[in-house]
Amino acid sequence: MEQQVNRKPKRKYIIVDLEKCVGCFNCLMACKDEHVGNSWLPYTDEQPRHENKWINPVRHERGKYPIMDQCFVTKLCNHCEDAPCAKACPDAVTVREDGIVLIDPKKAVGNAALRDSCPYGQISWNEELSCAQKCTMCAHLLDQGWKEPRCVAACPLRALKLVEWDDDRKEEMVKKLGLETLTGRDGAVWYRSLYRYQSVFIAGSVACTENGMDTCAAGTKVVLVKDGETVAKKKTDVFGDFKLDKLAPGSGTYTLKLTKPGHPEKIQTVELAEESLYLGTIRLD
Ligand code: SF4
Ligand code: SF4
Repeated sequence: MEQQVNRKPKRKYIIVDLEKCVGCFNCLMACKDEHVGNSWLPYTDEQPRHENKWINPVRHERGKYPIMDQCFVTKLCNHCEDAPCAKACPDAVTVREDGIVLIDPKKAVGNAALRDSCPYGQISWNEELSCAQKCTMCAHLLDQGWKEPRCVAACPLRALKLVEWDDDRKEEMVKKLGLETLTGRDGAVWYRSLYRYQSVFIAGSVACTENGMDTCAAGTKVVLVKDGETVAKKKTDVFGDFKLDKLAPGSGTYTLKLTKPGHPEKIQTVELAEESLYLGTIRLD
């Protein structure tokens, strides 16, 4: 008797890791290499040489000297599950079972409504061909058996990965890796460590006097409190610096408590606006 195997359908997902991306732009160049001068019909017509970027690593800086950081957030079409572009132009957009969202190149010609239908600005306008275009996840290659789109294959740091998960596995991995979408909408592109782009931090340097000398207050316990709850804590490093991360932009008033044995406790109120905050040097005495 034939044994029945219950296989759940898998979808393709691109995982973007902000901790790994260094902004080398290889993904963008690989995308241009694949699509400029090449018409991969019926998937897509060719991409313009300049401007239109179907994948784009965007630099993001946080903080102020001397405590600041930067990351690159690689943006591309989210291949939304419940895609606004497909809702706006159902004749021109297909959401495939494997999760890839494709624009019909013929129906994209002269279709300004399609260009304007993506709330995330991921549909660009090809002036020469007068048509709307976007990332295809290199479906023309994947359908021929390629394991990855060109951008993923070109990433030297594996900051981009293509995976195929069924719904259960996806749910498990989203939790395990702390994955988020850039749009808040379910789709095929998920980000790891998105807090580097979406959150802000409060940082400072702590100093004190020891044995009659000014010194960095290494090992000072720094606790951040909001509405009576501890929301972050850290010890200062050897330079007396601290950075309390993953805070919501514009989240308002916090209480900062600094304690180090042998020194009076320091308590101060901190107001967090939209940008990361460097408090300067805080003295314990
Ligand atoms: S990101 Fe924009 S273009 Fe891509 S599927 Fe979603 S709505 Fe459509
Ligand atoms: S190729 Fe990889 S490391 Fe380079 S910019 Fe793109 S995602 Fe970042």
